[in-house]
Amino acid sequence: MKTSPESIDALLEAAAPLIELAVEEDIGPGDATSLSTLPPDTHLTGRIIARAPGIIAGLPVAAAVFCKVDPSISVTPLVEEGQEVVTGEIIATVAGPGRSLLAAERIALNFLQRMSGIATQTDALVSAVATTSARILDTRKTLPGYRILDKYAVRMGGGTNHRMSLYDMVMIKDNHIDGSGGITRAVQQARTHYPDLPIEVEVRDFDELREALACAPPLDRILLDNMTSDQMREAVVITADRVPLEASGNITLKRAAEIAATGVDYLSAGSLTHSVKALDLSMKISRKPGDGLSERIHRIRQIKAELGDRMVILGHHYQRDEIVNVADFRGDSLQLARQATQTNAEYIVFCGVHFMAESAAVLAKAHQHVLIPDISAGCYLADTATPQGVVAAWEALDAATGNADKAFTPITYVNSTAALKAFCGQHGGIVCTSGNADQVIRWALTQRPGIFFFPDQHLGRNTAHKVGITDSEMLVWDKFNPLSADAVQASKVILWPGACNVHQRFLPEHVGTVRQQHPGIRVIVHPECPASVVDLADENGSTAYIIRRINEAAPGTQWAIGTESRLVYRLQAEHPEQEIITLADVPPFCGSMSRITLPKLADLLEALVRGEVLNKVTVDAETARWARIALERMLEL
Ligand code: SF4
Repeated sequence: MKTSPESIDALLEAAAPLIELAVEEDIGPGDATSLSTLPPDTHLTGRIIARAPGIIAGLPVAAAVFCKVDPSISVTPLVEEGQEVVTGEIIATVAGPGRSLLAAERIALNFLQRMSGIATQTDALVSAVATTSARILDTRKTLPGYRILDKYAVRMGGGTNHRMSLYDMVMIKDNHIDGSGGITRAVQQARTHYPDLPIEVEVRDFDELREALACAPPLDRILLDNMTSDQMREAVVITADRVPLEASGNITLKRAAEIAATGVDYLSAGSLTHSVKALDLSMKISRKPGDGLSERIHRIRQIKAELGDRMVILGHHYQRDEIVNVADFRGDSLQLARQATQTNAEYIVFCGVHFMAESAAVLAKAHQHVLIPDISAGCYLADTATPQGVVAAWEALDAATGNADKAFTPITYVNSTAALKAFCGQHGGIVCTSGNADQVIRWALTQRPGIFFFPDQHLGRNTAHKVGITDSEMLVWDKFNPLSADAVQASKVILWPGACNVHQRFLPEHVGTVRQQHPGIRVIVHPECPASVVDLADENGSTAYIIRRINEAAPGTQWAIGTESRLVYRLQAEHPEQEIITLADVPPFCGSMSRITLPKLADLLEALVRGEVLNKVTVDAETARWARIALERMLEL
């Protein structure tokens, strides 16, 4: 488990009495079926399998259940806590005496399914608001006795915990206000009795909001209860950043993005823990040992030998170890696309996400086919910018300036669709990577006075800072609130409001915590992280930069790394001479990359051997031509 040992210890301590109760309730004097049907010396192995996609939380608790029933059962997790899994993915293997294994199965799955369900639901809400800085909070609406487990699962889904209980924060709600004679009086009383506790006040209208804002010293947070999006937007204006605002009441997946776009700081959702939909998981028993992984790896190696130079497999740095281990090249997106298209391989199997395979297809020679093991492996960041959305924004810039093609150079981060690269090609624009974005921005500013940067607002902002552009010279495009012509004309950089939902999860407090816990540690982050994190880090740079820095560092250097967790864990394994930790307490994994699994890769290769070309990624000739122009402009710099 890569989550912090303290958090696992607290989890297991809270789970112990619940496990005890559950074992007593379910097994009692014995599992009649297993005891009667299985010979006592039967040894079984099993696999816990995802029957639906989701986020895994609770493996340590499931392991503790098996251990409670029979300490001789061994549990081997195959995924990390907080990791996204796809349907059919094996989450863990278990092995031990058959009677014990089957007796413990349901109890272990009950814990794991509930906790993973909470994490999955949380992740969906977190992803829905990922292009804003709003955070998703839980509430006290947890299953009695399960508070620590439920709140741990929320954290594994990328959410933030609200107060744990009634004792660790003062939260003045409508009934307290009505019962005590008003907000001001209630706050005074709370401060007198609990001077050290943070105070949050719930407000129902703007009069109450103004009264809450008038409290001195300022409150720690104000909760906007059941307000409409328009009311929240107005509340944000009235508050003017004096106190953080929390939106509460009917926070659904459908409304979350709209609410977050109002500018509130938090969205709290009781449904995360009071309306849990368990993640569908099952345990399949086999008398044969092994999880099938080694057989698949063996078969993939056989097929590679059979196809020889006709095929190359590319493994992105954020891929699972078992994929990277069978890949011919490991790297980041453009590097892999270029390496593969410099070979003469007929089949380029891209174990990455869709835009990466598209980049390879744009650069591919006429006889080369680019395939991806799962065609649905998109990229959250790339998907935030559709060609229609970008064209609509460009038209608005055109209207504001009289001619956008003279006022702004469009720059697309390589993490974007081929259509957007082509858009840049057609409009005198250019592609950039996280490694050369500063060089590209400098070039762009020699072409036209302004820059329209998409899809990653954070890379755009961080790089603009690097070249001396200030926040006051930048605006974030907002389709809900079109920018005025004056504002556009006064801006040097217009940022698309996209963000990567992996790097967006690193927060300034993570930097504070690791510095406190590991004095002297160097914090290194990817520039897709928010500027508030990049500004606190010691260094920031592309994946290649991070890898190089770790490779070159003196033994014993301490690093907290803010990028995708599989890469961080690989660096940890490859550099035992360094002390490497992930920056966030809940390490984020790229769910899109997780869609690529060894079985899917094996199936794709088996099909190739049969002469079937599956999941081919193509880009039409016109789009490819313009996209190449934008890429070549970058390569010529
Ligand atoms: S880490 Fe972020 S940018 Fe990279 S593929 Fe995943 S979602 Fe996209």
